Amino acid sequence: MVRDGWTPLNGFLRIDSALSIAAVTLQSGSESPRLDAELLLARALDVPRSYLFAHSDEEMDVAAAERFQNAIDQRAGGVPLAYITGEKEFWSMVLTVSPATLVPRPDTEILVDRALMKIPKDKAMRVLDLGTGSGAIGLAIARERPLCEVVATDVSEDALAIARLNSRELGIPNIEFIQGSWADPVAGQIFDIIVSNPPYVASGDSALATLQHEPRVALVSGDDGLDDIRVIAAETKNVIVNGGYLLLEHGAMQSGEIAKILSANGWANIMLANDLGGLPRVTISSR
Ligand code: SAM
Ligand code: GLN
Repeated sequence: MVRDGWTPLNGFLRIDSALSIAAVTLQSGSESPRLDAELLLARALDVPRSYLFAHSDEEMDVAAAERFQNAIDQRAGGVPLAYITGEKEFWSMVLTVSPATLVPRPDTEILVDRALMKIPKDKAMRVLDLGTGSGAIGLAIARERPLCEVVATDVSEDALAIARLNSRELGIPNIEFIQGSWADPVAGQIFDIIVSNPPYVASGDSALATLQHEPRVALVSGDDGLDDIRVIAAETKNVIVNGGYLLLEHGAMQSGEIAKILSANGWANIMLANDLGGLPRVTISSR
């Protein structure tokens, strides 16, 4: 069944053929075209992904085909899968995301992992997550360390609305969200651990072409990508306990410059943690 002037995936309504055509359509726009097509079709049909394999010869109705076509068109246009589905898994939590939030990256789990190493399970520490976006880092720490009090900030009210929604939906009570620039909204407070995945892409970086659907304020930080890290290194001095830790995510080539910025601001014991590809992506320092 094909409506006038409109051909869902060239008129193929069978699950297996629709998937094959969609996967070809996505080949240039996605690193995982087949998987993306499966996830988007499962969503259009409102079924688990496994359903697609057990019912591959079934025909979908035109409304589902239309939903699927629409999703495939968006994905082919470079929209991140997470913005189309509205969710992204991070630290085994399914987080709601929106175009106001960065899509949480698997690499950022390294930062969470390193922060947790500094927080004994039986200690009620105060933790600050600067630039929380969807809430990913702060929520993961709050969930793993229920005795801790996490404060998460962002300059974007729209991002914070999503982060608050995530804390409610996941039932994570020990986190509070405050709007404002870096350490401004927590002036006068004191924390044991401060974590941040700030914007760190240089304004002229060619990689921005592939990141155009994500908020610029979440990605870009001046000519060398370090403007926000300079501010964070300076402002966090005033809200950290003696012996407290600052953990920052950054680009693979930035660790040298960041060490200089941190030292100049009185941060010591500077250590690096590598990402899954073996590149230095997290800098840990203490006060
Ligand atoms: N923490 C989230 C994650 O890891 O998925 C989001 C990280 S994203 C790279 C950086 C975040 O910093 C964005 O949510 C952005 O809105 C926020 N941000 C940018 N400038 C800021 C500022 N001056 N003060 C506070 N947050 C800021
Ligand atoms: N890791 C992101 C990327 O894909 C950048 C996020 C950031 O600036 N913190 O390049």
